[in-house]
Amino acid sequence: MKSADIRQAFLSYFEEHGHTRVPSSSLVPGNDPTLLFTNAGMVPFKDVFLGRDPRDYVRATSSQRCVRAGGKHNDLDNVGYTARHHTFFEMLGNFSFGDYFKRDAIRFAWTFLTEVMGLPKEKLWVTVHISDDEAERIWKDDMGIDPTRFSKLDEDNFWQMGDTGPCGPSSEIFFDHGPEVAGGPPGSPDEDGDRYIEIWNLVFMQFDRDSQGNLNPLPKPSIDTGMGLERVAAVMQGVHSNYEIDLFQNLLKAAAEATEHADTTTPSLRVIADHIRSCAFLITDGVLPSNEGRGYVLRRIIRRAIRHGHKLGARGSFFHRLVAALDAEMGDAYPELRQARGQIERVLLKEEEQFARTLDHGMGLLETALSELDGDTLPGETIFKLYDTYGFPYDLTADVCRERGVGLDETGFERELEAQRERARAASQFGAEYGATIELEGQTDFTGYERLEDEATVVGLFDS
Ligand code: ATP
Ligand code: MG
Ligand code: MG
Ligand code: MG
Repeated sequence: MKSADIRQAFLSYFEEHGHTRVPSSSLVPGNDPTLLFTNAGMVPFKDVFLGRDPRDYVRATSSQRCVRAGGKHNDLDNVGYTARHHTFFEMLGNFSFGDYFKRDAIRFAWTFLTEVMGLPKEKLWVTVHISDDEAERIWKDDMGIDPTRFSKLDEDNFWQMGDTGPCGPSSEIFFDHGPEVAGGPPGSPDEDGDRYIEIWNLVFMQFDRDSQGNLNPLPKPSIDTGMGLERVAAVMQGVHSNYEIDLFQNLLKAAAEATEHADTTTPSLRVIADHIRSCAFLITDGVLPSNEGRGYVLRRIIRRAIRHGHKLGARGSFFHRLVAALDAEMGDAYPELRQARGQIERVLLKEEEQFARTLDHGMGLLETALSELDGDTLPGETIFKLYDTYGFPYDLTADVCRERGVGLDETGFERELEAQRERARAASQFGAEYGATIELEGQTDFTGYERLEDEATVVGLFDS
């Protein structure tokens, strides 16, 4: 079953059960300063759950584009290392706004997986929150789930969109990819492997967490579910990794051609194929590379992709050339992407040209530092110099170091940043108000103090 057919089957199934089909919203959450990007299908419905945005429906279904590269749910560092994480992915969801609750949510999900998708029950594992006896009874007594494939967990089964906002206990469904893959079942000590892959999370929305951390009851108990399209496609197509599904085949091929690297299973090619999706969709949704907030996250993702291309031997600009393949793959489902194609290509090319000039020098410095390393930790001063002089975001340096099994002196880096901030404070006497954002477009090296101010903003966002 192709990804597009799964998306369609999901939306139709829930439409047949009284849900209104709602198109995907932007990756930039409307009017929500608490959130960097739309990171789940429920984000556009946040105010509906809170009772502040009445709609003329109480059930909805959607396929929402999501980015998890910052904030509460940050998967950037996982990409390229696990079979199941992307920076950009599509979340299939069904929602109840004070209408049905646990029993129907569980029944819909179980019926869709085992009857509509025809998945064998013995391959599916289920978890619920440690306190949730009601959901346990529904799974065991009504759905007849085998108790050996069922467990009750704590934090893993409490979902929240961010530090504040709607949240509640959840129930997750996992698919067992078989003993050839390493990893233990959910809740076991080796659950971090990729054998049992979480495919669907059913959240029993009951609370609104406020900024003091208190849980206030929602006006009405509600349902929010999310299933990763790429993960369920891997299951349906009998492959283990998301990168082996239909949707990624042409992207990987395009990445292989653009970097002149034939082996499409190379992690770097997977990183590039992943990153073109988040970058292209972020630009579609109006984000531009910059030195602060969302734009800085986009810049970090673009630079990470370029660095991986560089690692494969690509020396010219290659990344923007993947937009055509992405358009061919996803432009039908997302006409806004097709429409923005020219703009995406221009933005990426400009960013590539800008970064290419310093990448070689920066990598040279990093290679020298790594070869001369005394011990197994890269000093903070080196990380800072790469960042300050060569525009290497912290996680880019971390990515390279991880490949070599080298740790990072994060404290030392923070100390250098703080020293730079001090100098900035002193310099602010010369006019430019500390905190003012100074336009850096077109600049090759990042030596301005304003960059640190921006970094402070970003660090703040990431700490949250
Ligand atoms: P994991 O534990 O695998 O990181 P999660 O618990 O963080 O997943 P949820 O927040 O519950 O994920 O999101 C709901 C669903 O969205 C998941 O069950 C999964 O199918 C999908 N999903 C989450 N993160 C990603 C990602 N980075 N890439 C692709 N799909 C994802
Ligand atoms: Mg996660
Ligand atoms: Mg999980
Ligand atoms: Mg989950």
